[in-house]
Amino acid sequence: MKLELKHSLSVKLLRVVLLAALAVGVVLSCAQILFDASKAHHALNNDAQQILGMFRDPSTQAVYSLDKEMGMQVLEGLFQDEAVRQASIGVPGEPMLAQKSRPLANSPWRWLTDPILGREKTASIHLMGREPYNEYYGDLSITLDTATYGESFIASSVIIFVSGVLRALAMGLVLYLVYHYLLTKPLSRMLESLTQINPDRPAQYQLPLLKGHERNELGLWINTANQLLASIERNTSLRHEAENSLLRMSQYDFLTGLPNRQQLQDQLDKILIDAGRLQRRVAVLCLGLDDFKGVNEQFSYQCGDQLLLALAERLRGHSGRLGALARLGGDQFALVQADIEQPYEAAELAQAVLDDLEAPFALDQEQIYLRATIGITLFPEDGDSTEKLLQKAEQTMTLAKARSRNRYQFYIASVDSEMRRRRELEKDLREALARDQLSLVYQPQISYRDNSVVGVEALLRWSHPERGSISPDQFIPLAEQNGSIIAIGEWVLDQACRQLRDWHDQGFTGLRMAVNLSTVQLHHAELPRVVSNLMQIYRLPPRTLELEVTETGLMEDIASAAQHLLSLRRAGALIAIDDFGTGYSSLSYLKSLPLDKMKIDKSFVKDVLEDDDDATIVRAIIQLGKSLGMQVIAEGVETREQEAYILAEGCHEGQGWLYSKPMPAKEVTAFLKQARKKAVGEAAS
Ligand code: C2E
Ligand code: CA
Ligand code: CA
Repeated sequence: MKLELKHSLSVKLLRVVLLAALAVGVVLSCAQILFDASKAHHALNNDAQQILGMFRDPSTQAVYSLDKEMGMQVLEGLFQDEAVRQASIGVPGEPMLAQKSRPLANSPWRWLTDPILGREKTASIHLMGREPYNEYYGDLSITLDTATYGESFIASSVIIFVSGVLRALAMGLVLYLVYHYLLTKPLSRMLESLTQINPDRPAQYQLPLLKGHERNELGLWINTANQLLASIERNTSLRHEAENSLLRMSQYDFLTGLPNRQQLQDQLDKILIDAGRLQRRVAVLCLGLDDFKGVNEQFSYQCGDQLLLALAERLRGHSGRLGALARLGGDQFALVQADIEQPYEAAELAQAVLDDLEAPFALDQEQIYLRATIGITLFPEDGDSTEKLLQKAEQTMTLAKARSRNRYQFYIASVDSEMRRRRELEKDLREALARDQLSLVYQPQISYRDNSVVGVEALLRWSHPERGSISPDQFIPLAEQNGSIIAIGEWVLDQACRQLRDWHDQGFTGLRMAVNLSTVQLHHAELPRVVSNLMQIYRLPPRTLELEVTETGLMEDIASAAQHLLSLRRAGALIAIDDFGTGYSSLSYLKSLPLDKMKIDKSFVKDVLEDDDDATIVRAIIQLGKSLGMQVIAEGVETREQEAYILAEGCHEGQGWLYSKPMPAKEVTAFLKQARKKAVGEAAS
């Protein structure tokens, strides 16, 4: 804010002071002039008396001797004085002895001075004889013209007036400067400092003390203002704190400090918007404690509170996987899993939470076990809004409690049974290895150079005691999830290597064994060591063990994949890229990876004769493999026509039902023997 000069305090002061000084100056000058006027009166009288005194004797002489001539001479003498306008010698009432007069002087100030001094002044003295007779002879009388007196009176009055006013003005100016330097200027500096203050943090900026004003009212003003600002800031921060804690109280559960239902709804709203946009799933888990009422009754409400607090703490332990965690009230909590792909991820979280409750809670030397039931809803399947998802999850939890406890339940029955199946399968899978339920089958791989069997691919089988044979497509992902793939994978490698040794010993030297590697296995640091150990133990020549890795597994982390593949190669293994064409390999990366072989995915081979696109892809893959110096094998070859096509394109090897389904080792041995016999026969004929 800029101050206009005409509004400034100094100018206002200047105006007031000047006016006041002027008024005082005028009044004082006027008083002086009045005093001067009375002085001029006196001077007039004095002069008249003096003149009369001076001419008394010659006048007395003239009147005594009745000498008119002399009288006139005296009067001439008198008229030397310019102020004398009229003079006479004689007895009043009789003809004068001598008399003289002249007109009034012409003065421009008469109009002003006549009212003050009068137009003229007449004075007379008696002319008397000598002592002791003292005879009276007549009067000498003169009339003085006041004009000259008036002029000098005016001149002095003007000087008095002007000097008085000028003095007043000078005083006013000095006062103005004093005010300006002592008051207005410091005030503007203080104003400037005030504008520096940040209204949100008033105490951050201290108003500076003005030099020379530390101890006066201004200094006091600044100190007081600084104290005021500090206390304003203190107050605001106190108010903020209070507001925050109010807000916290309205959004968070008092006991556990977790968000309350209100806050959860806000959070979930946001999560659902994001999930809708990214087309991801969200799981809402509603957890209710089983028989918390009993705990409260058996112990005390304080104990109950402590338990809830401890439970909240355990739930927080899962927050890494959670988008939100809240206490819905009482013994109910909600967990939100944002951004999941498959329902089983929610099942796993639910199970992890339930497993977490296996450990007892310690309370005053007592061990208390809590059990919970969890209802689960999924977005978008079970509802598209926060209210629906929460309500259904709570309802599912309540229903599940009525049936049995200490478990989780999905809202949709089919998802629930699927999850249950999956979970059981996962549990069984952990024991499959120990219970000898896993086995390997082998599928021959044919070289198109001479139609000989150059290798076999080991494929895993699980024969479940109740469910029968389970496809690896189903259980391998489970094993990858729960980590058992590492043990299973090592077992597969061991079995396959042992079997290859056996076949080599039976004379099928040079036979190659292809083993599938899961991505999890590939990134396991121990793998190269395991592979080279096995190759040593079973004395396998280099390049007779082929490891199949999938495209997607490689592309996840090219740098570390390349590292792992290199060490596997150093251990003596060949590397094949499986299911080629189904992922999103970038060709430049492909070149930088140490690969020996490409396996064309069976989905392309299947339709190679019907679908032009697939035919193009198959042809392109074969060309690509050749130009990168890799072997190319087609999998899933079922018909002679398919074989003819890939043969014509120059594919090196083939694998599929056309040649053989995957078989147990014994059958493969027979297959190999027969193939050898056929080859020997062909060579002989
Ligand atoms: P994959 O590596 O692509 O294996 C080829 C799959 O195609 C095998 O299914 C095989 O039985 C099947 N197959 C072979 N020839 C034909 C054919 O002519 N037509 C048709 N339609 N299918 C044919 P499988 O044995 O069920 O294996 C499925 C997948 O499981 C495998 O796909 C592989 O990714 C995985 N797998 C199998 N064994 C193992 C293992 O020991 N370890 C790992 N990590 N994964 C394995
Ligand atoms: Ca394979
Ligand atoms: Ca494949």
